[in-house]
Amino acid sequence: MTESARVVIVGGGLEGLATAWSLAERGETDVLVLERNTLCSGMTGKSSGIVRCHYGVPSLAAMAWHGVQVFSNADEIFGTDIGFRQTGYIVGVGDNNTGPLTANVAMHRDLGVPVETIDADAVRRLWPGIALDDFAAFAYEPLGGHGDAYMTGMAYGTRARSLGVRVRQSTEVVALLQREGGDVYGVTLADGSEIHADTVVLATGVWSPTLGATVGLDLPIRTQREPILLVDQGEPTPDVPTFSDLVNLHYVRREPNGELLVGNSDHSSPEIADPDAYSNRAADDYIETAVGKLERLLPNMPDPRLASSYAGCYDITPDYNPIIGPAPAPGLFLLVGFSGHGYKISPAVGRLAADLLLDGISSDPAVDGNDFRFSRFAEGTPLVSLNPYVGAGEMR
Ligand SMILES: Cc1cc2nc3c(=O)[nH]c(=O)nc-3n(C[C@H](O)[C@H](O)[C@H](O)COP(=O)(O)OP(=O)(O)OC[C@H]3O[C@@H](n4cnc5c(N)ncnc54)[C@H](O)[C@@H]3O)c2cc1C
Repeated sequence: MTESARVVIVGGGLEGLATAWSLAERGETDVLVLERNTLCSGMTGKSSGIVRCHYGVPSLAAMAWHGVQVFSNADEIFGTDIGFRQTGYIVGVGDNNTGPLTANVAMHRDLGVPVETIDADAVRRLWPGIALDDFAAFAYEPLGGHGDAYMTGMAYGTRARSLGVRVRQSTEVVALLQREGGDVYGVTLADGSEIHADTVVLATGVWSPTLGATVGLDLPIRTQREPILLVDQGEPTPDVPTFSDLVNLHYVRREPNGELLVGNSDHSSPEIADPDAYSNRAADDYIETAVGKLERLLPNMPDPRLASSYAGCYDITPDYNPIIGPAPAPGLFLLVGFSGHGYKISPAVGRLAADLLLDGISSDPAVDGNDFRFSRFAEGTPLVSLNPYVGAGEMR
């Protein structure tokens, strides 16, 4: 007899597992997660895990705020540490972007997010030695910080399993099954067997276009490679806030071992890569540029050296925002295109996906489920910031 589940989720990363967890919390436990490798072995394992509510799209700010509240109570909710470090989060902008920053902060406060604008002296008190000549204004979220995406995803998976969700690893889906009328009714595995479902959730990140194509779906998702540097300052970095520099376009946060994790925020010429064949090391010219930016921000590092580097890939959509909702083919639900900012919103992604799957509508009045519809691209109405930053619009 063919195996079946009410909901089959393809992809055991953060978003698929958050959805499995949320469905189970709502009582839907006839859920089967299919992961071709091991849980969280995809891009989730490479995430910088930065947590901030600083978005220009109100639904995303509200989703990130929900994330902060879940992460802050992770011990109680999941019974385990998810690596969340509430370091505080600062975003700094130049003269050209003070207007959007002020407008975003006002919007965040309306949503209930604890956030304030602070001056350079206040930033220097939080991070002694930081050089701030490039900046004109800062927003500070005391409850922001960073978490461990692998630990978080595993916590979602463990909780989902304890509630009855089935998880199958080393199980590759090679095609979605579609009836002549267009409905998707299951998946075909690499061994040729089929699993049938009322709904198939596609949560396969950068690998989604290949599976979408098996039912003629042209997903507007590209793979953007992003190198990450780990820098040893010469002595352990003290507890400092997580910092987004929207002038020189990079972000910096402290690793638990005292190194600095440094990532890129310049998406003006994305490096499009093959998700199955990309260099997992930062290139020399990238390192030179990134270290130059870091030294401009932290000119007094005692004896800096590059400890290591690696690279991950974002599943970018044309507006750098995710697709969460039904596909044109009935029976298929899309959970793809998180575009490099899917960690902080993942608890709310799971909640929204469960709402849409079970009720067809978002349960949070601050989160408009319609914002993330697939059809927005064909309609020519991308999801964009209300207060866009000059030169740094993506992911905000
Ligand atoms: C370098 C980097 C830094 C980031 N930093 C941040 C950050 O600071 N803050 C933030 O909020 N977000 C950040 N993100 C984004 C966030 O980590 C991702 O959006 C999120 O982890 C994506 O989760 P996912 O479940 O969509 O994808 P993935 O974790 O990639 O999961 C997809 C899963 O699907 C599986 N799969 C694929 N094809 C198949 C198949 N055919 N059959 C079965 N299984 C399949 C894969 O093996 C994989 O496990 C970052 C991402 C990267 C890469």
